[in-house]
Amino acid sequence: MKRVIAIANQKGGVGKTTTAVNLAASLAATRRRVLLMDLDPQGNATMGCGLDKSKLSVSSCEVLLGEAELAQALVQVEQSGFTLLPANQDLTAAEVRLLSLPIGREIKLRHALQPKREDFDVIIIDCPPALNMLTVNALVAADSVLIPMQCEYYALEGLSALLSTIEQIRVAANPTLAIEGVLRTMYDPRNNLANEVSNQLLAHFGEAVFRTVIPRNIRLAEAPSFGKPALFHDKESRGALAYLALVGEMIRREEVAAGGAVRPPVPAATPAPANGNGNGAAEHAAAGEPGSAPAHDAPAAADAMTKDN
Ligand code: ATP
Ligand code: MG
Repeated sequence: MKRVIAIANQKGGVGKTTTAVNLAASLAATRRRVLLMDLDPQGNATMGCGLDKSKLSVSSCEVLLGEAELAQALVQVEQSGFTLLPANQDLTAAEVRLLSLPIGREIKLRHALQPKREDFDVIIIDCPPALNMLTVNALVAADSVLIPMQCEYYALEGLSALLSTIEQIRVAANPTLAIEGVLRTMYDPRNNLANEVSNQLLAHFGEAVFRTVIPRNIRLAEAPSFGKPALFHDKESRGALAYLALVGEMIRREEVAAGGAVRPPVPAATPAPANGNGNGAAEHAAAGEPGSAPAHDAPAAADAMTKDN
């Protein structure tokens, strides 16, 4: 997998932070050296790791502005086995300051991460719910983007804006920026619309959609209130197991890529939102579009995972 992964989707509440924190914990469980960077003024990833965001002396804000070394701001998340660069609302002021810079404002984060890049196997950046200067900095610093998506009616709205931002950043500053994958989150297989939207994603993005789906799971929702990733709140929970499965899939994909297999390109355009009439999957299958065959993976997998906690 790519070294620096930005978790991005400008839509709010789609599971970016939950994915960032639980992916960090699951990767650390495979003995990888992991840095989780909170780049959201809401500081949710910081709190989800058990830190009080109101008591930070040095945070992402100072690091981003070049007022502190990255090393000064890093916190070891003891039990979880990864390192955190915490954040709080100061980041909002940092963004305003960045916007006032005449040049180089998009590459501040890339420069700030540079000294520590080799110290970590994977750096995960939790982005805010906006295509703002913070997210642009994350995308310029990243090797790949992981896009969490909730399979609901408006899920696909705004996806073309994100894909076009990614394309612009490729052209302007980061030509090798890849799509790590599209991740279906909070998945409920009993919901017809979720299945419909899921099928549309598979039909449109094909191999770029992770086969692993993250089920709607109470343990994932409550773990942040304990200041822990789900893996350390309830390691047997379906949520914790799903994020471990995601890491397994990412590792397998990496091995396939290293073996020379070519991953299909990601289409630039966004499909229309699901109309909920249940015909989408059949249409895509009839058209023979990539991804239509395994469209039932998600419901089946999520269903298997819905049986208990
Ligand atoms: P924001 O855009 O505000 O940063 P986000 O995209 O980071 O939001 P999260 O904070 O991860 O989204 O999730 C939104 C809410 O949904 C949170 O209350 C979280 O606990 C809950 N949640 C996320 N994933 C799941 C899941 N798989 N099952 C149940 N609840 C979930
Ligand atoms: Mg968040």
